[in-house]
Amino acid sequence: MSLRVEELLEARLLVEEGSGTSRGGRRPRRLRLAPSAGLLAVADLGAHHVRLGLLDLSGTPLAVEERACDITAGPETVLDWMADAFDDLLRTHAPPGVPLRGVGTGIPGPVDPASGRVVGPSRMPGWNNYPVADQLGARYDLPVLVENDANLMAVGEARSWPGSDNLMVLKAGTGIGCGVIVNGRLHRGRGAAGDISHVRVRTDSSVMCACGHPDCLEAYASGAALMAALAEAGVAVDRPADIVGLVNDAVPEATSQVRNAGRLIGEVLTVLVNFFNPDVIAVGGACRRPSR
Ligand SMILES: [Zn+2]
Repeated sequence: MSLRVEELLEARLLVEEGSGTSRGGRRPRRLRLAPSAGLLAVADLGAHHVRLGLLDLSGTPLAVEERACDITAGPETVLDWMADAFDDLLRTHAPPGVPLRGVGTGIPGPVDPASGRVVGPSRMPGWNNYPVADQLGARYDLPVLVENDANLMAVGEARSWPGSDNLMVLKAGTGIGCGVIVNGRLHRGRGAAGDISHVRVRTDSSVMCACGHPDCLEAYASGAALMAALAEAGVAVDRPADIVGLVNDAVPEATSQVRNAGRLIGEVLTVLVNFFNPDVIAVGGACRRPSR
């Protein structure tokens, strides 16, 4: 252990941070990842926007920004654009001499974790079976992580609940996803675990889902469905996060749609809670542009 730590200290990947409390023997040294050891360029890709970040190796952001981005432009265009945006961030915010050591992106659809390919996504034309990890890897020649966005959110959220090992983390954006943490670890199943978007719900009307089946949860309760329903009612919104603003302003078309969506999502979650018996259910998703 000590030899390994010395190697990491010599490589300047770890730094010492004083000493801890002794429990009998020599006082232990406190170690942490060196902020100057490297940078990670990460992206949270949504249907209409992407949030980009430059982090140090401990995960502390040096810069975060959000840009408009249309995922339907296809994988080559979007990933080239994403890499250009990473290069911009590095030029502007990277401290001199600190190398980029990895690249990662969240994808709003199922991802095969072994190959880094997108598998059977909704509303992402051209992305099915696309090798996202290979494309980014060809540009950077660094470790590349490609993962479903709800799974990433679940892993992040789990860190806020120490002592709770079983979580369901619902991400409500343009689509609806659910990340599942079982016994403290992300549960992927065969790659699409937690994809609750096509669970059938009971409603008075009948709406055809993009998957070709009637009455999927996504066809009623996703941000895309709410935007379509609001447009039909004469209320135009650019992106799902703006619906939050309409609800805060008590626009009746929006409040009734969101209430209905909440009820349907709640019905699906009720079944899952009985099945999975989690410690925590966290709900999150689209964030509004930071207001100034
Ligand atoms: Zn469906």
